[in-house]
Amino acid sequence: MERFPSAAALVAAKQPERPVLASRPHAAARAARWFLQNFPGDVAYAYKANSSVFMIGALYGAGIRHFDVASTPELEDAATIPNAHLHFMHPVKSRRSIAKAYHSHGIRSFSLDSEDELQKIVTETGAASDLVLFVRIVVPPINSAVPLERKFGISGEAAARLLIKARQAADELGITFHVGSQTMTPDAYSHALGEVGKLIGHAGVVVDRLDVGGGFPALYPGMTPAPLSSFMAAIREGVEKLPVREDVRLMCEPGRALVAEAESVIVRVEARRGTDLFINDGGYGVLFDAAHLNWVFPAQLVSRVPAKGEGTEAFALWGPTCDSIDFMKGPFVLPANIKEGDYIEIGNVGAYGRAIAGDFNGYGRYDEVILDDEPMMSLYGADEINRAAGQR
Ligand SMILES: *Cc1c(COP(=O)(O)O)cnc(C)c1O
Repeated sequence: MERFPSAAALVAAKQPERPVLASRPHAAARAARWFLQNFPGDVAYAYKANSSVFMIGALYGAGIRHFDVASTPELEDAATIPNAHLHFMHPVKSRRSIAKAYHSHGIRSFSLDSEDELQKIVTETGAASDLVLFVRIVVPPINSAVPLERKFGISGEAAARLLIKARQAADELGITFHVGSQTMTPDAYSHALGEVGKLIGHAGVVVDRLDVGGGFPALYPGMTPAPLSSFMAAIREGVEKLPVREDVRLMCEPGRALVAEAESVIVRVEARRGTDLFINDGGYGVLFDAAHLNWVFPAQLVSRVPAKGEGTEAFALWGPTCDSIDFMKGPFVLPANIKEGDYIEIGNVGAYGRAIAGDFNGYGRYDEVILDDEPMMSLYGADEINRAAGQR
């Protein structure tokens, strides 16, 4: 793996023909250290967000030992990590994947949101006596850019009944939820924990574990979340009010917040038409969220220093495939005289970028490098870290 001091240095040295996935493992490590220092429990990385060996290596090096996996391939991959604790947190699993997880990979921790799934887990593990079962409940999305509540989760009477049944099958019983990805304010967690409290009261069960899921935000242009430390404070406060055992074991499952700022994609402008730029990666590649959620990512010209007085302009981007939905509306603010042959760094694409990219139309193949400089936008600057430390 080649290392460069910056995207500009890479472009000057290589003039890359393919788009380049540029990792900054030090940024993922910094985010992981922040969570490990500030979250009062286990920090389980949501494997699906980005499973590049550079990211996993950086997170591991920073001390992450818990991983949230959702499929047999993910867990087989994660099972190669030494001393990893894996949690199979997909509420709908195939029977074979449950049996394999339990019997071949030593996984004890599973999530579920139905009595059918509970029955599957009990049967496929041979009614094991050492299960850690997390019941996934529905919570409303509050200020979340990617709501997740419609697909999984149980609520009300049915949730209380499932908790009671799961209690009988579990060595340790947990509750889990997901407030939705890129949640901008901590009240989503406060509200969710309030729902957990009501449910526990209603079901009258002893709860050993509480998993507040993922959803922690990253920084993107036009999306400035509340400080991460305020999320930690809301979680501590919410947990204190819960009718759970004093030594309840907490877990969180950040994906996006650990890796978003740790990768950029470096693309080349293949054509300019007015304020539209045709580039060599797009919605079928790393830029899925830019195309389909209209997210804006930070962009900068890296093939030359902008001329004095050049000014900037707002551009839209077209991806390389023949499909007209391969379009990223932006605005991506770049120097006004940008032209064919110029290279652009598009930052903070580390979460769900690489993970989603496919190779439709023969695109979607990348060179890879490591960069030593800082991410284009960071939530984990010295300020945030000092502020959180002051609040502890
Ligand atoms: C995707 C997912 C996560 C990670 O979510 P982020 O919004 O990236 O933090 C955590 N837990 C579960 C169960 C998930 O499906």
